[in-house]
Amino acid sequence: MSKTSRTIHTPENSCPYCNHVLDACSPPGGLDSPSPGDLSVCIKCGGLLELKKDLTVQALEEGKLLQFRFADPKGFATLMQLRNGILSLQKNRVKGGDHND
Ligand SMILES: [Zn+2]
Repeated sequence: MSKTSRTIHTPENSCPYCNHVLDACSPPGGLDSPSPGDLSVCIKCGGLLELKKDLTVQALEEGKLLQFRFADPKGFATLMQLRNGILSLQKNRVKGGDHND
């Protein structure tokens, strides 16, 4: 059995929102590899990103997000879940706790 979650290395670049250096991405379940035009989420700030041809990222335009939402509602939901997960992780970290209850 192979695990679906793996990390794919991309050219080193930085998040347009928070400047966090990104050199890899973990595509949400099912996707084999990131390809140009794919959407991603910054692991640091939860910012929505779009992959360019060279697999570096740029800020996702709102219009494209809306298009994606209509074209692929399931993928959109997955992306939002991923983003919410990252954002709530950040919140927990700020609270300073590893509290699991
Ligand atoms: Zn970021």
